[in-house]
Amino acid sequence: MQQNAFSSEPIVSLRDVQKSFGPLKVLDGVSFAVDRGEVLAIIGRSGSGKSTALRCIDRFEKVDGGEIVVCGHRVDRPDVNLRALRQDVGIVFQSYNLFPHLTIEQNIALAPCAVKKMATGQAKELARKVLAQVGLEEKLHAYPEQLSGGQQQRAAIARSLAMQPKVMLFDEVTSALDPELTGEVLKVIEQLAADGMTMVMVTHEMGFAKSIADRIVFMHRGKVHETGPASILTSPTTPELIQFVGTGN
Ligand code: ADP
Ligand code: MG
Repeated sequence: MQQNAFSSEPIVSLRDVQKSFGPLKVLDGVSFAVDRGEVLAIIGRSGSGKSTALRCIDRFEKVDGGEIVVCGHRVDRPDVNLRALRQDVGIVFQSYNLFPHLTIEQNIALAPCAVKKMATGQAKELARKVLAQVGLEEKLHAYPEQLSGGQQQRAAIARSLAMQPKVMLFDEVTSALDPELTGEVLKVIEQLAADGMTMVMVTHEMGFAKSIADRIVFMHRGKVHETGPASILTSPTTPELIQFVGTGN
């Protein structure tokens, strides 16, 4: 199935997704959808299944049941084209995972050259462009260890952008950072959202979720316990979400 500018298909859709690790049921009938250009924030207590839900979208985890469609790819099916799926989906985790022995430019150019067979010169040009997008042009030739945590995370985002994904997934990308460094990373994500990038982000930054998310999914014990526009964070209805936003975590 091909996505086009006039398509009304969601970019990401999960329907009744089930996932267990041994006897532990981690996703118990999870459903949500993300339209083109939408920002969805997944919130919830630690262990509620947020990361697992995100990892199922990119098929880092296989689901036991239910349906997942991402940019037209049937992710729940065994014959899904993983290479094509992963070109459409960018994912950034809490730890930046930049290769320490490569410069930032080399880190960014690696996948476009290896996966998309892009010429070196073109990949270098692309690296410059995506680094400018995250405000790090001057770090092109630096090594990861020469960058602050916030800068490394921005470089990791740039590396994902170089693959020109149709949707970006963020899993607690600021939780390993010192508080004074989270702002610069959130700003980059905010700009991406403003530019129309479709994204799903797991975050514990409630203020940030409230300000940029079109929709919130509150997960509790492997289920979507409450969902709605960002205003549900100000006016939660279930006791669990009331308690969650009340305690801040
Ligand atoms: P969250 O991101 O909301 O903190 P996770 O999705 O990481 O939650 O985890 C949900 C539950 O699944 C937790 O109890 C966690 O320990 C368990 N879990 C996650 N990944 C695995 C795994 N690969 N093997 C076994 N248990 C796992
Ligand atoms: Mg998690």
